[in-house]
Amino acid sequence: MQAAETTIPAPQRDALNTSYWEGLAQGSLSFQRCSACGHAWLPARGECPACLGDQWAWENAGGGAQLISWVVYHVAFHPAFANRLPYNVAVVELDEGPRLISNVVRVADAQTLKIDQRLKLVIEDEGGTAVPRFTPVR
Ligand SMILES: [Zn+2]
Repeated sequence: MQAAETTIPAPQRDALNTSYWEGLAQGSLSFQRCSACGHAWLPARGECPACLGDQWAWENAGGGAQLISWVVYHVAFHPAFANRLPYNVAVVELDEGPRLISNVVRVADAQTLKIDQRLKLVIEDEGGTAVPRFTPVR
């Protein structure tokens, strides 16, 4: 019998998302903004999801965000997450517009979370990878 994998899988890096991961390692959450229409997005992709333009640039997020939705996981869908159950998985919208899937951390009870709640960025280390998470603004 093979031992259960208990290490969280590292993100798959490619030519497009390397700037994103390197920015996080240096303390900044970045997103792409279209040079043609101004739309901003995550995750990294080669064309603007609004106008399909291929001219864009990276920008750093200011760190403000709001909570769009969340669920609380009571089942580990990967063995590496079993020891942190229950935990939340949230859709967060940056003040600049892009949405990402993340976690709201430093919350004792997910029952206290609220739709549209103000959040701020916290970059945490996850097995050697800097990842963006969010915490409520008090
Ligand atoms: Zn565009």
